[in-house]
This record gives sequence, structure tokens and C-alpha cells, in this order.
Amino acid sequence: MEIEPDTKDWTWVLRRRCDECGVEAGAEDPSTVPALVRDAVGRWEAVLRRPDVAVRPDPATWSPLEYAAHVRDVFRIFDQRLRLMLDEDEPTFPNWDQDAAAVAQAYGEQDPAVVGEELAAAGAAVAGAFAAVPRDRWQRRGLRGNGAEFTVLTLAQYFVHDVLHHLHDVRG
Ligand SMILES: [Zn+2]
Repeated sequence: MEIEPDTKDWTWVLRRRCDECGVEAGAEDPSTVPALVRDAVGRWEAVLRRPDVAVRPDPATWSPLEYAAHVRDVFRIFDQRLRLMLDEDEPTFPNWDQDAAAVAQAYGEQDPAVVGEELAAAGAAVAGAFAAVPRDRWQRRGLRGNGAEFTVLTLAQYFVHDVLHHLHDVRG
């Protein structure tokens, strides 16, 4: 079973509402992250309790379990990126190949209960980290390996969309 690598550029979600999931990421900011993440974690936990959570809807689409494991790692990676932006001036983020991570860590074979616990812990950590950034540091910058530039503010917006869009992917 092969998943097409997701090379799409999602930075447009910062400028307009996403037609697929309906999220208007540009309206969010670091202070709104905790409530959104708390709600999302509850919905992901419900998804992970589905009896068919490990079943792919078709061979080229991740199962809800694989999406949940990905979102857990999104929580962890964005926590790291945020800390880097606060600790260093205009850091370049280490590359993260999402599709390679899914294969290397065998997302589809992980225990849904464990993924749920890890997702809740990682979600609480990253939510707290965003909420703790004082407003006068929201414009600190960081760069993705491909040159895309983020501030703490737009990183929060991009992050929120990613987490909620994947809930839409699994109808969670
Ligand atoms: Zn979306």
C-alpha cells in the first residue's frame, strides 16, 4: 500500500478559509490554540476508539489511526519549532519528512490506546507552549527548509489548521 507523498503547499490557509474543512486559520492566534487543541484532542480520542480505526478507506489514504499518529507527531514537531523560534533568531527548522516518518514508525501498526495517550500529552504540551508566548514575541521568525517563512503567529495558525483539517479527513 503506497501513500502519495504530500508535497502540497498549505501556506495559503493563512490567507483564506479552507474550503475543505471550513477552518479560518487566519482568525486564530497563539492565545486561542489551547481551547482549539483541547477540543481537537477529545475528538481524536473518540476517533481512536472506533473499532475500525486501523482500516484504510482505500489503499492510498491513511487510516484514522495513521492520521492520529501523524497529528501526535505534528504536536511534537510544532512544539520543537516554536521553542527553536523563541530560543534562536530566525532559525531554519530541521526537515521533517512526514511520509517517511509514517513508514519508519509504522503508524498503522501502533496501539490506538497508546497513540491516544501520547496525542493527549503532546497536545497539552504544545498548547501550553503557544499560550505562554507573550504577545510581543508573536512576530519572532523561523524558516522551513523550503524557504517558507513563519512567525510565531502564523505558525500557530498553520498548526491549528493542520490539526483540524485532519479531523475533517477522518470525519472526526
Ligand atoms: Zn482545511
